[in-house]
Amino acid sequence: MKKVRHVMGISGGKDSGALAIYLFDKYPRLDIEYYFTDTGKELQETYDLIRGIEVYTGKIVARIEAAPNSHEDPFDHFLNLFGGFLPGSNARWCTKKLKLEPFEKWVGEDPVISYVGIRGDENREGYISTKSNIQSIFPFRKNIWSEDVTRKLLKNTNIPNVLNSYVKFASIDKLSRIKDVVNEHISENHNLAEKLNTLLDIDTEAFNQVVFDFLKTTDYPLSNATDFELLDNEDNLVRDDIFKILRESGVGVPGYYEKVEYEVNGEKGEYARSRSGCFFCFFQQKIEWIWLYEQHPEKFALAIEYEKDGYTWMQDESLQDIIKPARMTQIKEDNIKRTQRVAQNKKSPYLIDLLEDAEEEGCASCFI
Ligand code: SF4
Repeated sequence: MKKVRHVMGISGGKDSGALAIYLFDKYPRLDIEYYFTDTGKELQETYDLIRGIEVYTGKIVARIEAAPNSHEDPFDHFLNLFGGFLPGSNARWCTKKLKLEPFEKWVGEDPVISYVGIRGDENREGYISTKSNIQSIFPFRKNIWSEDVTRKLLKNTNIPNVLNSYVKFASIDKLSRIKDVVNEHISENHNLAEKLNTLLDIDTEAFNQVVFDFLKTTDYPLSNATDFELLDNEDNLVRDDIFKILRESGVGVPGYYEKVEYEVNGEKGEYARSRSGCFFCFFQQKIEWIWLYEQHPEKFALAIEYEKDGYTWMQDESLQDIIKPARMTQIKEDNIKRTQRVAQNKKSPYLIDLLEDAEEEGCASCFI
């Protein structure tokens, strides 16, 4: 059996920061290697969070650089290679070159468990490596397993094996109900998610034991492990829990999530940034660009310098256009209206909730 490495990427975002704290507190025996893939274009708040995690865990967060021998920042190095072609949501060379490839190179061929901070209230899968030696685990979700694993486990042809396995791990009083659920075939009327959630609801730990048993018959990294600490994990953590973990640990919430008041035409509004990652990230919303312009003007000026030869960060307007007074006023007013509309529905105290429409967009490597 090969030794399994346990790794976790810190992006500078709230969810990965909270996950590092959570794993350190709840599973102290897990020897986790923390890492950060630096684009060279992060806000200072990201580095502050990483330092906070280092102090809290007593571990160094490994810095992985995409272009270690270049005299330029990693982003600029690859931008030059791409002839100044700015990345965008349809051409995300930055994620691939600056985050995924360096990470995969760093882990090499070792069997690796990669912990990912996708929350229980999110509906996305996150990064699943194409490399078979990297397996993603999602400790904040009731279902800690990636979809490829549960799909293989619960496919109809595997029903007899799942039943045999449950006999070993489920209590007698639950077994009859579990058998009924397992025996029900996945079909048009009964999808994988329904079957999975029912099994998790009946007995999460028994389900995890069954998955772990199944993995021993595969090439997944956990087939190399004799046990796995998270098999007893029944938690389902949502956004409020994440802020609580960060605040109560003393590490704190990254500064860019804290809302800042502004006034426009006598009306008060609030803005903040919804995600970590490069300060010029094309996934940010217009109001976040305005936040950058007013809260980090030096970074905004740098972002403008990248807009040349017909390339812009946003498809429909340039940064020069977005800061024209009338346009800024309009964006701020629109944000106030939208905030009021969303707040009526959500009644949430967090501005981040109001920016959440876009939160699940984009790159799990950069923003979690
Ligand atoms: S933060 Fe945005 S710009 Fe930076 S690497 Fe990630 S997707 Fe690309």
